[in-house]
Amino acid sequence: MQAIQILQPGGPEALTLRDLPTPTPGPNQALVRIEASGINFIDVYQREGRYPTPLPFTLGQEAAGTIVALGDDTASSDLKVGDRVAWTSFPGTYAQLAVAPVALLIRVPDHVTSQQAAAAMLQGMTAHYLVHSSYAIQPGDQVLVHAGAGGVGLLLIQMAKSLGARVFTTVSNDEKAALARSAGADEVILYTHEDFAARIKQLVPSGLNAVYDSVGKTTFEKSLEVLRRRGIVVLFGGSSGAVPPFDLIRLSQLGSLYVTRPKLQDHTATRAELELRASAVLNAVADGSLKLRIEHIYPLIDAAHAHRDLEGRKTTGKLLLIP
Ligand code: NDP
Repeated sequence: MQAIQILQPGGPEALTLRDLPTPTPGPNQALVRIEASGINFIDVYQREGRYPTPLPFTLGQEAAGTIVALGDDTASSDLKVGDRVAWTSFPGTYAQLAVAPVALLIRVPDHVTSQQAAAAMLQGMTAHYLVHSSYAIQPGDQVLVHAGAGGVGLLLIQMAKSLGARVFTTVSNDEKAALARSAGADEVILYTHEDFAARIKQLVPSGLNAVYDSVGKTTFEKSLEVLRRRGIVVLFGGSSGAVPPFDLIRLSQLGSLYVTRPKLQDHTATRAELELRASAVLNAVADGSLKLRIEHIYPLIDAAHAHRDLEGRKTTGKLLLIP
């Protein structure tokens, strides 16, 4: 089977198409024929070595497809060969076939396509835990979402709006601004053209309840500045680079602020929590209340092209790889 691996960390050129033996599902695992694999920013961090992995390493940790074989000890799960499933947080999905633990597999509802499921699992459950758990939005809250036209960003705006927040967002160009507005954002700021903190202080002198910051290095300091007293920055990524070491006294000086640095795995750590978030997201996709934007679809062989586009800020919404 074909798969995209890194043999060494590096730039997009490190992504190598290889012929590998068909994997065998071990105990508590299923072998899945992948119909669509999600591309996520964490794949970039792993490719470049920011998050080290064993080598060689098959990238990708989100996919949907059909079970073609089950390993030993899977009888207690109600899954069978032929079921359509989706999963995230287990590596090896830039491939035609992959094994995954049955404990991570979620049956895809009939009215959700495999492409939609692969697009929704990681970014959808992330948006879900951010607005319900990292900072639980209350009606009337004022929040800022950075990179609002991105994969997580568009979903985060929709969920924050549905909980009754006034949503500010930042984007880098006019096309992205239009998309963020159509997702429901109330105020869109082109942070490549103007100082987002100055603009927000002008609009909301008392400050925001929360900032959802995935951009990191270039935004973090100003994210702190736009908060109200005892507000929170939910720092959940570093698309522009990692935030440098930070003196905690700043949190006191700026008004007893909070900072959290969450990750998805800690918010889907039990089967019950995984099922709760996955079903909330996939059911919202099925009934049309959560809109996915899937405009960037690449064949497996073009994984490097996809990475260049994602890192080059050329994409909006979700990127998929089709094996
Ligand atoms: P996006 O689709 O949001 O792509 C990244 C976006 O970040 C770009 O489109 C761009 O939007 C913005 N950006 C700002 N500065 C830069 C820069 N210097 N280089 C590249 N992009 C930049 O990606 P995802 O939706 O896949 O992920 C968004 C973030 O969320 C990532 O940081 C990721 O690591 C994080 N994440 C964290 C999770 C967690 O549980 N902690 C889970 C999932 C994602 P613009 O052009 O508008 O500035």
